[in-house]
Amino acid sequence: MDRSKLYRRFRTLLIANRGEIACRVIRTARAMGLRTVAVYSEADRDAMHVALADEAVLLGPARARDSYLNVERLIEAARKTGAEAVHPGYGFLSENAEFAQACYDAGLVFVGPTAEMMNAMGSKSGSKALMEKAGVPLVPGYHGDAQDDATLAKAAEKVGFPILVKASAGGGGRGMRIVRSADELGPAIVSAKREAKAAFGDDRMLIEKYVDNPRHIEVQIIGDSHGNLLSLFERECTLQRRHQKVIEEAPSPTLNPAQRETVCAAARKAAGAVNYVGAGTIEFVSDGKDVFFIEMNTRLQVEHPVTELITGIDLVEWQLRVAFGEALPLKQDEIKLNGHAVEARVYAENSTKNFMPSVGRISTWRLPAETGGLRIDAGYREGDTVSPYYDAMLAKMIAWAPTRDVAIDRLNRGLEDADVRGIVTNIPFLSALITHPKVRANAIDTGFIERELAVLTQAAPAPGELELCAAVAAIVNEERQTAQAGANSPWQTFGWQPVGRRQRSFAFRVGHGPEQKVTLSYGSGPSTLVIGERELAFAIAAKQGGFDLTLDGVKSSVAAVIDGHELYLRTRHGRFDLHWVDPFGGESEEQTGEDKIAAPLPGTVVAVLAEEGATLEKGAPILTLEVMKMEQTLRAPYAGVLKSIKCKVGDIVQEGIELAVVEPSGE
Ligand code: ADP
Repeated sequence: MDRSKLYRRFRTLLIANRGEIACRVIRTARAMGLRTVAVYSEADRDAMHVALADEAVLLGPARARDSYLNVERLIEAARKTGAEAVHPGYGFLSENAEFAQACYDAGLVFVGPTAEMMNAMGSKSGSKALMEKAGVPLVPGYHGDAQDDATLAKAAEKVGFPILVKASAGGGGRGMRIVRSADELGPAIVSAKREAKAAFGDDRMLIEKYVDNPRHIEVQIIGDSHGNLLSLFERECTLQRRHQKVIEEAPSPTLNPAQRETVCAAARKAAGAVNYVGAGTIEFVSDGKDVFFIEMNTRLQVEHPVTELITGIDLVEWQLRVAFGEALPLKQDEIKLNGHAVEARVYAENSTKNFMPSVGRISTWRLPAETGGLRIDAGYREGDTVSPYYDAMLAKMIAWAPTRDVAIDRLNRGLEDADVRGIVTNIPFLSALITHPKVRANAIDTGFIERELAVLTQAAPAPGELELCAAVAAIVNEERQTAQAGANSPWQTFGWQPVGRRQRSFAFRVGHGPEQKVTLSYGSGPSTLVIGERELAFAIAAKQGGFDLTLDGVKSSVAAVIDGHELYLRTRHGRFDLHWVDPFGGESEEQTGEDKIAAPLPGTVVAVLAEEGATLEKGAPILTLEVMKMEQTLRAPYAGVLKSIKCKVGDIVQEGIELAVVEPSGE
């Protein structure tokens, strides 16, 4: 195919994606003087990427299939807006060869490789066959066409357990199961196939030896249409949960310079096997010594910023220049590794509740400034809504520093300084992870998070003296601010009232815990707070997002968000959620609903795992839902008898709907 037709200069770029990556691409495209066109679904009318772009086109209903995955609508959107090129981002249609071809057929430049290259590298099986020929080391396994149970079982036996069953079309860790013995194989294949069919419309499986204590190491490559191909060093993405990356860094702290050169050379060989054009990633699994090819991703990756920060290269700019038909601006030996970068993926999910996705309106979104080596690629702003239709990644926080230790410290500080309310985020979990001594020491493998889950998801500390005082300060501070806006409030005189001292009592509790009392004494002379026997001198000075609290001569910075009687505080001890007990009563004991077996979010019932009348242990699986593309198993909240199941496989269930009833036994 004539490459000058595929890659040529353009002025208007359509970004066929949403969220942080759409925003990220728009930023660079704009800096290069391009016009940008966003596309969106009905759920995303007010989304950040729509606001950022010069123009935006509605694709259709919220479901990805009707919007972001609808090739016809996307091509039509390009036609309507005069867009000449399409950047697919990652996910959605980014590795879909038919989409790349449809763009080409419609006279659009596709920012990425050709459909042929995608076809060659897109499937895990196909690419492995190619790599085998090119002499790139592979994980032992089976990647043939025959898919019957007997063939797969024989292949597994031959490779030797433990093995991995993997969807050939897989991505994002879906359609993948570790199998440790022959009798686990059948059920694992059934469930992996079901997940793969739903996610990718393709349930072909391959089998691989499961590498023990594996690490994930990948190499960023980029090729132009003039036959130049470069590697931009490696990333280590070993910190994963359910095969999904959580923290990524560059360079890999595991490799020495000689190993680095070996893996980068293998990656160049792999991409060279298809004369690759565009940005891509060659992924390897490593036992700490050797690396084995697992797959190639023919697109930009989520974690590309760590590579950008250690090379000083804007990968989106290079992608666009390659799409213009330009030659890559540097030679291999001109690409220099500088310092260390670490990235954390900020998700709307609840780490303490099995990482359940969290949806709703982001009522507070305060992230630290992008200074001192910190970079934040966000796809959401305050007031935006996180919907259940798409991946729940909100933003990426990335830190660069001359050394790994300092990069980790900077990232952690950035995470600690973030206040997000309205939805639950994994920020505390990310902080715990990045500061874990074994992470610092790089003593990790891909199973690390699962093993350390209890430590990483520890409950927040109980509020101490500082937090109780901060709670009073937050209320007083807010009342003062409201008073300044209005007139004649008693709080205008807070702190220096001449006519004697007054007292005010507050009570707070955490969850269903006991009430803790604080008395504020103010009027003539300095204000004081009394907690139990302790009396503390107290002063506050309001500032952005909170206040400085001075207690007994020590000043502390406190971030605060007040929502009615719910107080969120961030002090030097961490984050705290306190309930301000209403002094006038009227507190209703709300149903916690924790024991209800209900859909946590809208989803589809994909399996019923227990029969009515069955006696269940606490924690026994009852049914499996597919929620936001991930399978979630609902379990018995206590030991008992399964009285009824109120749904069947295939049902689409709404949030909060009770799906099964367990009658507790005994007690
Ligand atoms: P996906 O495309 O769904 O992300 P990958 O093939 O890239 O799937 O694998 C995801 C992760 O699973 C890898 O990062 C690695 O940690 C782990 N993994 C993959 N293959 C193996 C293997 N053969 N042995 C051990 N771990 C593996």
